[in-house]
Amino acid sequence: MLLVCVLTLPAAIVHPVSSASQPTPYDLVIRNARVIDGSGKPAFKADIAIKDGRIARLGKIKASEARQAIDAQGQIVAPGFIDVHTHVESIYSLPAAENFIRMGVTSLITGNCGTSTTDVAQFLGRLKEIPITVNLGTLIAHGSVRRKVMGLDDRAPTPDELKQMEAVVEQGMKDGAVGLSTGLIYVPGIYAKTDEIVALAKVAAHYGGLYATHMRNEGEFVADAIKESIQIGEQAGLPVEISHFKISNRKLWGQSPMTIGLVQAARTRGLRVTVDQYAYTASSTSLDSRLPAWLRAGGFEAAKKRLAEPGTRERVVAEMTEGLSRSGFKDYDYAVVASYEPDQSFNGKSIARITKEVTGKTDVQSQIEQIVKMYEAGGAGMIYHGMDENDVQRIMKEPFTMIASDSGVRQADESVPHPRGYGNNARVLGHYVRELKLISLEDAVRKMTSLPAQTFGLSDRGFVREGFAADLVIFDKNKIIDRATYDNPHQFPAGFSYVLVNGEVVLLGDQLTAARPGVALLGHGYQSLKNATQ
Ligand SMILES: [Zn+2]
Repeated sequence: MLLVCVLTLPAAIVHPVSSASQPTPYDLVIRNARVIDGSGKPAFKADIAIKDGRIARLGKIKASEARQAIDAQGQIVAPGFIDVHTHVESIYSLPAAENFIRMGVTSLITGNCGTSTTDVAQFLGRLKEIPITVNLGTLIAHGSVRRKVMGLDDRAPTPDELKQMEAVVEQGMKDGAVGLSTGLIYVPGIYAKTDEIVALAKVAAHYGGLYATHMRNEGEFVADAIKESIQIGEQAGLPVEISHFKISNRKLWGQSPMTIGLVQAARTRGLRVTVDQYAYTASSTSLDSRLPAWLRAGGFEAAKKRLAEPGTRERVVAEMTEGLSRSGFKDYDYAVVASYEPDQSFNGKSIARITKEVTGKTDVQSQIEQIVKMYEAGGAGMIYHGMDENDVQRIMKEPFTMIASDSGVRQADESVPHPRGYGNNARVLGHYVRELKLISLEDAVRKMTSLPAQTFGLSDRGFVREGFAADLVIFDKNKIIDRATYDNPHQFPAGFSYVLVNGEVVLLGDQLTAARPGVALLGHGYQSLKNATQ
């Protein structure tokens, strides 16, 4: 017996169309959809049938052919967005990953910027005990591997230490990591020379991984840093992904044709180089990334000891004053606190403002002293308003640029984080596509789906195609928009009506469902070992 729904229901409702006793070929059908399939080609009209978590058929499909139906009339259906630049090592404590689901993201790659688990099997294995909404993959990170083997020392590894690091990377790749990441502004990645990274990248290359890098410099020496990244890819023989591609030195604003040109030249030579980007002119990272590398050698306790020695503070202030002047910013007004544990009233205020409130002073030296004090008290999460909108737009238009948030899993109303963790994808689709017409909707979707899937080796995701995983988002292209702002970041975007992960509905209108269908995204190393033992 068919239970055809005749009631007028709210827009976001999954209609049960047949009883369980009636066998139907499909689990779910999405009808009347305008499909943007992820390839970049124009939208087309089709129904989508889902069976066992996969897209079973595209075409004309009757509601009665499935147990449930979604009417997507007037809406876009696209592949679930794949966010390849995240920091979600803590995802098992917030398994709903609500901020990601509510911006249409169905797959995450974590372990970026040099920090990851060093036990990939254990990390991804926890999925069996703690189910999550999203699919999850990880990189194996150079900084974490280096820390495990040689602590936070500012020196080159011995041959034996390098062998140990290679072994940790190798195990991570065998256990399913999708590549190697670095964070070359952070301790201890900052102490590694190029040859050390090439050696570890060769291991990742052997297992089919890529090299994802938070480069040594994104400001004054950004060109050198891009060249180093490309050199590592060419010497180790693997694709290069430059993370959160940007120019953060004010004096170099407008130079993105030059930085893009370096990437294009390497691509012309045959190297696979891609970049990712979030759709904002501010970045976000720790406060200590402003402090000199020599001060931070050996870690936080060692730095505190150094600061207690005579002359250290003066040297830090002198170097940072000089560095600020070279960066083109007149003071630390561009640096805003996102989270500061010892005094949460600092959250949302700039270093310039905090310094004025605490000391009454407005000079740069006093601001640097305030930064050092906050570092000694445990540090802070920061937002840096350091980019030029024209550079952001120019980078977004490049065909090799994908959209990624650089965010963690967010807890509602905790601190004042960067809004990208709530709004990134919706901002691209609403602001840059609809309002500014900077890129087409189809191209924007490609940058969030097939491009990241192909770059990171996720061979059955990123397209609306028969046989592919049924990770899907349904949204209204006329309504989609981000609502998170710098002042008020804990705001979900508007315009999404459904999000499906592996065929299960995880977002239904305004509501998250209880479904936790996320699976581990395993790299080529794991897959080839599995195939070899079958
Ligand atoms: Zn980073």
